[in-house]
Amino acid sequence: MLAEFAYCPRLCYMEWVGGEFVDSADTVDGRFQHRRVDSEVARADEDELQAIHDRSVSLSGEKVGVTCRIDLLEGEGRHVTPVEYKRGRAPCIPGGAYDSDRVQLCAQGLVLRENGYHCDNGIVYFAASRKRVPVDFDRDLVKLTLDLISDLRAVADGGAVPPPLQDSPKCVRCSMAGICLPDEVNLLREMDGQSRRDGDGGGGLIGKIRRLLPARDDSLPVYVVGHGHSVRKKGDRLEIRSIKKGDDEDEEKEGSEGRTGRGRGKGERDSAVVEARLREISQVNLFGGVEISTPALVDLMQRGIPVLHFTRGGWFQGMSVGHTHKNVELRMRQFAWAADRNRSLSIARSIVDGKIRNCRTQIRRNDPESPKDALDRLSKLSKDAANASSMERLLGIEGAAAEIYFGRLEHLLKADQGFTFANRNRRPPKDPVNAVLSYLYAVLAKDVFVSLLAVGFDPYLGFYHRPRYGRPALALDMMEEFRPIIADSTTINLFNNRELTDKDFIKTGMGVSMKRQAKRTVLAGYERRMQTEIEHPIFGYKVSYRRVLEVQARLLSRVITGEIKEYPAFLTR
Ligand code: SF4
Repeated sequence: MLAEFAYCPRLCYMEWVGGEFVDSADTVDGRFQHRRVDSEVARADEDELQAIHDRSVSLSGEKVGVTCRIDLLEGEGRHVTPVEYKRGRAPCIPGGAYDSDRVQLCAQGLVLRENGYHCDNGIVYFAASRKRVPVDFDRDLVKLTLDLISDLRAVADGGAVPPPLQDSPKCVRCSMAGICLPDEVNLLREMDGQSRRDGDGGGGLIGKIRRLLPARDDSLPVYVVGHGHSVRKKGDRLEIRSIKKGDDEDEEKEGSEGRTGRGRGKGERDSAVVEARLREISQVNLFGGVEISTPALVDLMQRGIPVLHFTRGGWFQGMSVGHTHKNVELRMRQFAWAADRNRSLSIARSIVDGKIRNCRTQIRRNDPESPKDALDRLSKLSKDAANASSMERLLGIEGAAAEIYFGRLEHLLKADQGFTFANRNRRPPKDPVNAVLSYLYAVLAKDVFVSLLAVGFDPYLGFYHRPRYGRPALALDMMEEFRPIIADSTTINLFNNRELTDKDFIKTGMGVSMKRQAKRTVLAGYERRMQTEIEHPIFGYKVSYRRVLEVQARLLSRVITGEIKEYPAFLTR
């Protein structure tokens, strides 16, 4: 903890106060290098130590105010030397070791002294270069160590995350860069007070920052659509099987009761459909009566991979997840913000402004007529939204913009495909276009919900959508700016590219619903969209839509914690 604080106070705060942690190649390798050290646990408070060679020694010093675990303790009698293992190569710098390592060792030395040992120096052992670097606990190092311990305590008690480092090379190797967003937060703080409404991101600062997070996820969501599938764990993989019926069985009926795990019924047999490596999965989405085995569920929970449950029609029912985020601090601030009308309004304004501007972009890009009147009215409404004086006024503005936007949506569909769109309707949707829109809004809401949970928010308490039992209000808030550019855009493309035809839909009573294969087509189209890399309008780097959801959720948390003033809605050009 102290070494991390010496490396970067923000890193230490996020890990130890905020409960955030992300593995990188360095941290995994570091754990690997410590295996031998940690395999033999001993305590240094045994009497009459003679020749000492103890590994993983736990000790605390009340006066120093530190508890430590010493990788290796060498010495004789009461004269001891702590040894700290590091995975990397010894650096070519004066003193032969980084300050963070020297301070960590010195703190161990001070604790040993408080426990009655003589300890004047320590050793940093660099595994990659097999080199022992001696560190003297001189007066300067002791002062630096005690000052850092006192600073760390003050920062932890202060309840405010320290600011990111400025353009530091440390951030490039930091496993927390994707959570910390150092350059993004610094840029937005620099832009605070400048207008971001003119589309240039403010003050010509675009493109100055490094992309320290991967452009897209290495892991991907798994979708299992429809009753008659089972999900099981097989080694380090997830196996999805279909339960085939024999010829004597009725045609499979979606929506009937899910099977329990007591084995196949008469005439049923399993057949392997597909396998996926667990480490390559980001989430598991189960639509309809899909079985999942307990070992699979437990393994997914332990890995922090959410399992999301939907009805056959795509209604998000809930999720199975391991321990939720431990950052209570953010949730407390979220509740305080939500209770404050003015603060809620400031976030709601940005969200609605962003949504209307993205709707306008959709029409400008894809409506063959691109009517000036509609574009001008949307422009005006987005400006009105940015200055709205009340939530009620904002609702009215959003409604007026939706009327213009959905009034043009039919013009975005190619006329020769035979699909029409008169207006937005739902529960149940009355035409194929509305059926696909409703399905995709539910899937998008699920992804925003998962992103918010990962950051530590309560997705049920929003700033624009008011709380209602079972309504994921914050997820609905945050998805507003993404509706036109992800869900609507995917829908238009699926129809215009003839990926969906009349045969994909069935009339059911009052409404229209999709057949199973059509749902698969829609989900595949959605995933293509989510994997699409776009240039971030403010930060200037390429990033996938899926990654943008996470970045936006993190930026919202930075607003709530007071690091940046204004929520920057995501805008396409
Ligand atoms: S990314 Fe940089 S500023 Fe952020 S925690 Fe890591 S080292 Fe500190």
